[in-house]
Amino acid sequence: MSQIDQIPPLRDVIATHNLSAKKSLGQNFLLDLNLTAKIARQAGDLASSDILEIGPGPGGLTRGLLAEGARRVLAIEKDARCIPALEEIAAHYPDRLQIINGDALEVDPLAHLTPPIKVAANLPYNVGTELLVRWLTPAQWPPFWSSLTLMFQKEVAQRIVAEPGSKAYGRLAVLAQWRSTARIVLDLPPQAFTPPPKVSSAVVHLEALPEPRYPADPHMLSKVVAAAFNQRRKMLRSSLKSVSPDIEAHLKNADIMPTDRAEQISLAQFCALARSLKAADSRP
Ligand code: SAM
Repeated sequence: MSQIDQIPPLRDVIATHNLSAKKSLGQNFLLDLNLTAKIARQAGDLASSDILEIGPGPGGLTRGLLAEGARRVLAIEKDARCIPALEEIAAHYPDRLQIINGDALEVDPLAHLTPPIKVAANLPYNVGTELLVRWLTPAQWPPFWSSLTLMFQKEVAQRIVAEPGSKAYGRLAVLAQWRSTARIVLDLPPQAFTPPPKVSSAVVHLEALPEPRYPADPHMLSKVVAAAFNQRRKMLRSSLKSVSPDIEAHLKNADIMPTDRAEQISLAQFCALARSLKAADSRP
């Protein structure tokens, strides 16, 4: 195992700062710095971007990102106990690490970042999906980020990259794949973490596309996809009845059988359905 920096090993950092893991904050720490450097490399070139990291904890991934050459890292951590440990990292990398003690769901990071911006995080499980959905559904596209390199529970990672016809295919797959490329780049067993969680994890890498794959109004697409997958076992003519009284006509316009179920519908068909519904909405 090679040493990636001159800062004490993470086990010592955790002991010095008394950072016993808190379940309520989704704390499962990565202590192997060779592994965190490998995760950092999945984000691609780091030297020409600012990196937004959510939930740095004692700083394993933060150190990986900096050792791999990140231009600047902005790290947002809710647990005040971790801040002194992160400040020690900042001292080793002058002007390259900014730390904010706050809740990532509330802090606006953009004032502190210079584009291009990449996001890299071993996300707290309790807020991971909510943050991802926010990053995938901004008011403007392209979004503030050029890529997202994120650790999730494996089951969530599989939902992000899922194809139509699979059990994992749902709202997350449609939202992620409509305007980005998404792939699983690394699988991690529970033992990679301290303490080990109950489930396996995976790193997903998403790259923002300059344009959506198919035209569609974002709000209409979100509405249709949410309604379709909320009742995923029902036929679409029934699960989407609340979206439009003429749903059967719109399904036909989008080349979808009224008896089809949500998990059979491709991204292209969902977008066609959203366009048909939006056109009807806009008619006087
Ligand atoms: N990045 C570290 C690592 O890889 O070892 C820690 C990962 S741990 C799974 C998740 C981290 O997110 C914890 O440090 C936790 O305190 C922090 N966290 C939890 N909720 C948060 C929130 N709403 N905003 C910012 N950080 C949060």
